[in-house]
Amino acid sequence: MKKLIIPFILLSGMAFGQTKLRPAIDKRAAEIESKVIEWRRDIHQNPELGNQEVRTAKKIADHLRSLGIEVTEGVAVTGVVGYLKGGKPGPTVALRADMDALPVTERVDLPFKSTKTAIYNGQETGVMHACGHDTHVAILMGVAEILADMKDQLQGNVKFIFQPAEEGIYEPGVTTWGAKQMVEEGVMDDVDAVFGLHISAQTEVGKIGYRSGPAQAAVDNLEIIVHGTQAHGASPWSGVDPIVTSSQIVTGLQTILSRSVNITENPAVVTVGAIHGGIRHNIIPEKVEMIGTIRTFGEEQQALVHRRITEIATNIAESAGARAEVSIQKLYPSTVNDPNLTSKMLATLEAAAGKENVRVNPPVTGAEDFSFYQREKPGLFIGLGGMKKGGDPTKTPSHHTPDFYIDESGFILGLRVMSYFVVDYMNK
Ligand SMILES: [Zn+2]
Ligand SMILES: [Zn+2]
Repeated sequence: MKKLIIPFILLSGMAFGQTKLRPAIDKRAAEIESKVIEWRRDIHQNPELGNQEVRTAKKIADHLRSLGIEVTEGVAVTGVVGYLKGGKPGPTVALRADMDALPVTERVDLPFKSTKTAIYNGQETGVMHACGHDTHVAILMGVAEILADMKDQLQGNVKFIFQPAEEGIYEPGVTTWGAKQMVEEGVMDDVDAVFGLHISAQTEVGKIGYRSGPAQAAVDNLEIIVHGTQAHGASPWSGVDPIVTSSQIVTGLQTILSRSVNITENPAVVTVGAIHGGIRHNIIPEKVEMIGTIRTFGEEQQALVHRRITEIATNIAESAGARAEVSIQKLYPSTVNDPNLTSKMLATLEAAAGKENVRVNPPVTGAEDFSFYQREKPGLFIGLGGMKKGGDPTKTPSHHTPDFYIDESGFILGLRVMSYFVVDYMNK
């Protein structure tokens, strides 16, 4: 008897839950695919830098309004938030896309190639969607259209988050990210779960990559100032040499990764990128300044690495009679996919892409500001294939380069998986 009951429960979940909407999603995705590609080409040809996405935001807002979605503009400078109320009560699921382009001059020969220029950091530069955020916007506009069509059947609400400045704003006196500001303006307050994707130029179309737990690194800036005592280069014993001390600190920092971090769990990186000290061959300077970058996965590891950097720098300096001042500026948090949510949604990824096309990604030492949403509510961020079938990832131009290229046949899976996320989450 028991054997009969279990399949019946599983079957009833499939037959009467929201997953019954999957065929309708597939049908609509196929119908609007060419429209999504057109939107993407238009956005690609008209890229805008972070916090300047005015044209892109208007295109999004006009489209959402035409679907009967409630729209708020000007969130976190240029962000757009759409709210779709479902026909039945249930959770609010957020879907996110980022809108900003980069100061890169496009070299790809496309009919919709960008020829836009801008002044960035005082320099004239080309502007290009060299990270593929144009594809994220177009896909999420398509998902809005698919879900708006079936809003009466939705057991919950959908929030469409189009944010500015994922790549960050680094102007004198201002360091911020679009997602951080969206969160500060309360965009996550009424949200139960958040989903996002990033197109990948190095992953074949039709494939999805994911990782449970910490998936992308936290990024922190490191600055160490070593104060010594200035002396004649011919009589070092009369001073305290900050150059020798700094060298020992740089070497000492390498032991954090080899001796303190559990490398079987997650990697970490500490890089000293610049050392400045001294002016002349026979003067021991008063101080040395070093700057670098720290990449860690998860808050526990981040705290450990920060603590060891401080201990090593200050104690080595002290042993030399010098003094080290360590300051660490936290930038992006680690992108952490909620393990519970990730395991719940694995079946969704497999249903959308086919089991053989879903793979676990290695941890990535680059960062993504989607992490700010995940600190508020459970979130899942996946990678979507954008490299042409049969391409060689080692020979494909990487993100942020002038030759960056995305194969548009990968979009339809993005439309389907983001829509599945919503209906499957509402079903669970
Ligand atoms: Zn990027
Ligand atoms: Zn990006």
